[in-house]
Amino acid sequence: MSDETKRPRTTTDSGIPMTSDERSLTVGEQGPTVLHDHATVQKMQHFNRERVPERVVHAKGSAAHGFFEVTEDVSQFTKAGLFQPGARTPMFSRFSTVAGEIGSPDTARDPRGFAIKFYTEEGNYDLVGNNTPVFFIRDASKFSDFIHSQKRLPDTGMRSNDMQWDFWTLSPESAHQVTILMSERGTPRTLRNMNGYGSHTYSWVNAGGEKFWVKYHFKTVQGIENYTEAEAVQMAAEDPDAHRRDLRKAIDDGDAPEWRLEMQIMPFEEAAGYRFNPFDLTKVWPHGDYPPIQVGRMVLDRNPENFFAEVEQAGFSPANLVPGIGLSPDKMLMGRIFSYHDTHLHRIGANYEQLPINSPKSPVHSYNQDGPMTYHHSGAQPVYAPNTKGGPEADPDNGSELNWGVEGAELGRYANPKHAEDDDFGQAGTLYRETMDAGQRDELVENIVGHASAEVSSEVQARVVEYWTQADAELGARVDAGLKGADRGETPAQAEVPSGV
Ligand code: NDP
Repeated sequence: MSDETKRPRTTTDSGIPMTSDERSLTVGEQGPTVLHDHATVQKMQHFNRERVPERVVHAKGSAAHGFFEVTEDVSQFTKAGLFQPGARTPMFSRFSTVAGEIGSPDTARDPRGFAIKFYTEEGNYDLVGNNTPVFFIRDASKFSDFIHSQKRLPDTGMRSNDMQWDFWTLSPESAHQVTILMSERGTPRTLRNMNGYGSHTYSWVNAGGEKFWVKYHFKTVQGIENYTEAEAVQMAAEDPDAHRRDLRKAIDDGDAPEWRLEMQIMPFEEAAGYRFNPFDLTKVWPHGDYPPIQVGRMVLDRNPENFFAEVEQAGFSPANLVPGIGLSPDKMLMGRIFSYHDTHLHRIGANYEQLPINSPKSPVHSYNQDGPMTYHHSGAQPVYAPNTKGGPEADPDNGSELNWGVEGAELGRYANPKHAEDDDFGQAGTLYRETMDAGQRDELVENIVGHASAEVSSEVQARVVEYWTQADAELGARVDAGLKGADRGETPAQAEVPSGV
């Protein structure tokens, strides 16, 4: 064997050559293993520490690298470098289910996370969205309760549809998102065949200081394709990693998936008089009111080389905004701004942003220092501000223009201000009546009935019927008939809907 083809020698993590990959050091053939066999002991010790805690939500994910390219001119709306004409920005995107654990099946009925990290020249911009334009709740104080209701019971360790419907029916603001979840879009066929949405309203500001409220829509160029419930369940058994496998294979085969970014843009002053509260995460802005305009395209063309380093250790945070992009008074967004960074500090560590997958490609000049596993040190630079020693200075003009006014407001625990057409069920009803075709409506009813008849108490079922009736009287009647039929062992298609509804 020539030197070039020789396999490297195994070493310890300290680089010391190991004598054996397979045998521990023992006193005689059957003797005890000795503690000073440091190579074996350290191998075991490291194995015991291989995992970081899995994410509390969005634990099962798949990801790829790619680029975002601006194809239109939207500089009149934002000065953000990554959205200037012709700009091309490297990015990384992670898709995930929400409630399932790290080994759960990809095709489970669930919203999908759609997180993007843009490595811009002005720092990392993270857009941490979903494959749905809305969400179950509108105030972050309910988030942990909502997630607990989707996870496992404390006594049995099992998931519970009863718990899910109990929470949803007591949280009527969930109706719009639950409609989408129970529709065919709750079980996407692949990660390539679903849209992504920023979901929240954000703000953009142009070079002249003019502000806009905006919503992000990433439209799949592959087209929307979904599984039926039966197909999704079958695939969960056949290949729990079906989505991960599909994404990886498509990219390996050179069939790079692509999404078109379209934006809805609302002039800043129109928010106050808009018919829906534009900062309510349970609502969309109907396309007719704010037609989406094309901005550019996102292409995923490179698979991760190491799953743990790039996918497990990736940390996205909606707090990562770059100049030209800002927040909005959405109370869910406010909570997420705190929560994402916080969870990464716990899950990965205080210096998670120094890991290659998370580290910005632009210079970092921060006064934060030290902590576990620090890799980039401040060296001999000043470690406090203000200083006269040549340390970095903040730019007072950077974020000031992104604020919105809160005049004369008092501290309090408020509901969202109601706009003319705000209610919890209106847009869910519109989706059912005006957007879905007859086949999609049938599938929705079937999925609701199937889900709400699996170990759901009759008391909660009664509330399920009331919930859907408020969205649409016919839908409520069909769910009622379906649940009663399920009691008799009928399928939803066999259950008769009462006439005159
Ligand atoms: P439009 O007819 O202009 O848009 C309806 C949009 O609904 C479509 O463009 C498509 O959005 C989406 N859609 C189609 N089928 C389904 C489905 N089975 N489940 C979920 N979404 C679907 O009407 P409006 O803009 O007035 O919206 C009507 C309703 O459509 C809303 O109440 C909302 O429920 C839903 N919707 C609206 C979106 C928006 O941003 N306006 C986005 C998504 C849903 P897409 O092209 O994004 O796939």
